This record gives sequence, C-alpha cells and structure tokens, in this order.
Amino acid sequence: MPDKVAIIGAGASGLTAARQAIAYGFEPVIFEKLSDLGGIWRYSENPNVRSVSWSTTNTSSKELSAFSDFAPSEAYSKFMHHTEVLNYLEAYAAHFKLREHIKFDTEVTLVARADDWEQTGDWVITYNDKCNACIMKFKHSNKSFIMSTALVTL
Ligand SMILES: Cc1cc2nc3c(=O)[nH]c(=O)nc-3n(C[C@H](O)[C@H](O)[C@H](O)COP(=O)(O)OP(=O)(O)OC[C@H]3O[C@@H](n4cnc5c(N)ncnc54)[C@H](O)[C@@H]3O)c2cc1C
Repeated sequence: MPDKVAIIGAGASGLTAARQAIAYGFEPVIFEKLSDLGGIWRYSENPNVRSVSWSTTNTSSKELSAFSDFAPSEAYSKFMHHTEVLNYLEAYAAHFKLREHIKFDTEVTLVARADDWEQTGDWVITYNDKCNACIMKFKHSNKSFIMSTALVTL
C-alpha cells in the first residue's frame, strides 16, 4: 500500500501536487470543500465562494501559465478566458485521473500532529463531509512533507 498524501484544495496547486504525488508513488487524498474542482477559476455567483469575475482573462500567456507536463489546447486563446483556464484544469485532472482522488464537499477544519507524533511522525486531518466530522491519519515521511501558502501536503 502506498503512503497517503493529504492535499487541501482541488485548485491548480492541489491538482498538480496530486499529479506529482502519484508520479512519486504516493496515494493522494484531496480534500475539497466545494462540489467541483478548479478553485478560484470556477466562476461562481455565490458571494460566499471566492472566484474570478465573469470578465476575467488570464494576464500571462497560455504557454507561460501551463503545467510543464500538459500543454494547453491549440484551440484556447493565447491569453485564456477563465472558462478556458477551468477547461484546462478539468482536462489536466481527466488526463492524470485525479478526480477519483478528490473528496468533494469536504472541508478540512484541523491539521494537527497525532498524539503519538514523537514516536510515529503521524499527522491527523479533521474534516467535515456532508454527514459527519471525521478524521484521517497520515504517515509522515521526509519525502512527502511539503507546506506552502496554497496547499498542505503531509
Ligand atoms: C483574476 C486572477 C488572475 C490571475 N492570474 C494569474 C495568472 O495570470 N497566472 C498565474 O499563475 N496565476 C494567476 N492567478 C493566481 C491564481 O490564484 C493561481 O494561478 C491559482 O489558480 C491558485 O490556485 P490554488 O490551488 O493555489 O488556489 P485556489 O484556486 O484558490 O484553490 C484553493 C482550493 O482549496 C479549497 N479549499 C480552501 N480551504 C479548504 C479547506 N479548509 N478544506 C478543503 N478545501 C479547501 C477551495 O475551495 C479551492 O477549491 C490569478 C488569480 C486571479 C484571481
């Protein structure tokens, strides 16, 4: 069984973190509080959901914005409209079969060291899904610990 890697958010950062986790032999578990992927690039009229505005167009070219392992479609504009960016992220997720690793409608509420962290290095993720408050334990390994402003990978 591969070690599990916890990734918070199925935006651009979480998706590529998951793709790299798989490439390095880990099993990603992506927690996404919304019901679909794309993060800020999925337009929403809900004022409680952070998203681009309808007029948003990317200010960097599609060549500069692309993940290095997945080229954007020739059909996209050079400076992609947000609908094309979302389409690109969806295509990326489909190509690398990432959706099956995403727990949608699942909000992480706490990331904490396990009680036996000193001995095991384990971390515990607490999350709410539609039914329950749940926890999941993740083994720590030096190879799999990454933290940035955009995502937490344990
Ligand atoms: C108008 C605009 C233009 C931009 N232009 C560019 C550009 O040209 N080039 C560029 O590189 N970047 C640009 N950016 C920056 C953009 O934010 C990044 O490119 C990228 O989309 C950020 O991805 P992310 O996954 O880090 O964050 P997000 O897209 O914000 O995704 C975070 C995800 O995490 C989920 N989440 C948050 N908290 C939790 C939780 N507790 N539990 C579960 N899920 C959670 C959210 O629901 C969301 O789906 C632009 C941003 C904006 C708004």
